[in-house]
Amino acid sequence: MSDAERIVIVGASLAGARAAEGAREAGFEGSIVLIGEEPERPYERPPLSKDYLRGEKDDLSWVHEESFYLEQDIDLRTSTVVSRVDRSAKTVLIEGSEPEPWDRLLLATGCEPRRIDIPGSDLDGIHYLRTVADSAALGGRLGDGVRVVVVGAGWIGSEVAASARQKGCEVTLVEPQEVPLQSVLGTGIGEVYRDVHLEQGVDFKGGTSVEAFTGDAAVSGVKTTAGEIPADLVVVGIGAEPRTGLAEAAGLELNNGVPVDAGLRTEAEGIYAAGDIANQFHPFFNDRIRVEHWANAQRQGFAAGQSMAGAEVIYDELPYFYSDQYEVGMEYVGHAADWDEVVIRGSREDREFIAFWLRDGQIQAGMNVNIWDVSETIGELISSRQRVDLMALSDPETDLASLKIQ
Ligand SMILES: Cc1cc2nc3c(=O)[nH]c(=O)nc-3n(C[C@H](O)[C@H](O)[C@H](O)COP(=O)(O)OP(=O)(O)OC[C@H]3O[C@@H](n4cnc5c(N)ncnc54)[C@H](O)[C@@H]3O)c2cc1C
Repeated sequence: MSDAERIVIVGASLAGARAAEGAREAGFEGSIVLIGEEPERPYERPPLSKDYLRGEKDDLSWVHEESFYLEQDIDLRTSTVVSRVDRSAKTVLIEGSEPEPWDRLLLATGCEPRRIDIPGSDLDGIHYLRTVADSAALGGRLGDGVRVVVVGAGWIGSEVAASARQKGCEVTLVEPQEVPLQSVLGTGIGEVYRDVHLEQGVDFKGGTSVEAFTGDAAVSGVKTTAGEIPADLVVVGIGAEPRTGLAEAAGLELNNGVPVDAGLRTEAEGIYAAGDIANQFHPFFNDRIRVEHWANAQRQGFAAGQSMAGAEVIYDELPYFYSDQYEVGMEYVGHAADWDEVVIRGSREDREFIAFWLRDGQIQAGMNVNIWDVSETIGELISSRQRVDLMALSDPETDLASLKIQ
């Protein structure tokens, strides 16, 4: 157990709240202060582009019950911004308060939406989506016949396009690549998502870039390389940037977020990072990866809490994420930055399949679409690093678990 007496966590969202839980579970008995700028207690973001955005769900998906913080003696401070980390004094600064001392500090400041900087980008009616406030503001404007232009067909843009369409909006989805999600999934699987959107009546404009927003006070159109599109509102979903401002001002090394080791420690004594902001050395991949997904914040945050409490931690979980668009649900396990083969098991047309991304005959990642209870087996196949029989892998009649070398 560590001799730390005080843990301060900056960022009261999924990774931060789970870190507080992890520290307590590892037996940490000192003070834990969990500081976040949002007014709500920690909540989960996935519903913000899905059922919460569509108004089908009133309550947020809370990370913990309200009573948890009191029961676990976690000093949760919402609506509170940390303005600086002082490494030598081992404090964090909060405007209008005394400096807050720490023995262990966790940076769990997450990401913020990447901003678009083109003419007209400061017009009213241009939305970004990260917080519950963003989701409520956008959701309140979706409805029958509202003309929505979504810029960017990554996960958030694609999900927002689906939700807006489900709310009866006329949706145009503009993407510079040929198909949605092309850089993550490749063209063949991206086409599946393109076709789903087209069938649902979204006007998908692949290979198209946005050049300007037009309008007087509020946006009324989007100039693109494929012409001008009328718009009542615009949603920009062009990726997210890790919130590294505090780390940078504190003189921490930055490299695609905040680099940490397998125990979630930064190079600075006593300072840790987890969740979307952390670029972790991952023992399985023998490389750094930074993952902007729910399961990573959930599990890595918990692990960081345990590590701060003095437990021996090697975080080596495979990345996992999920997405829902219309009736198409998927889960993705693993990490395929590059691949030389994609194997499909099942039917892309029926939207019931598993896609595997392989390199040198080894599965790097797998994605099950409308097929459930297989992600654990896919994870085991990836972890085993075995070379699989491709015929058997592509054959839905062959039990996936039987492919594992015992
Ligand atoms: C709309 C949306 C939908 C998503 N859907 C999915 C999905 O379907 N599946 C999936 O796997 N992932 C999804 N994600 C991603 C997932 O939500 C994130 O990976 C996860 O929230 C990361 O958690 P985090 O705690 O690291 O960071 P965040 O959730 O970004 O939280 C960081 C917190 O730190 C606070 N903060 C930052 N700086 C300071 C400061 N100086 N002082 C005080 N507080 C500060 C922020 O206000 C924020 O509350 C989605 C994300 C969004 C935005």
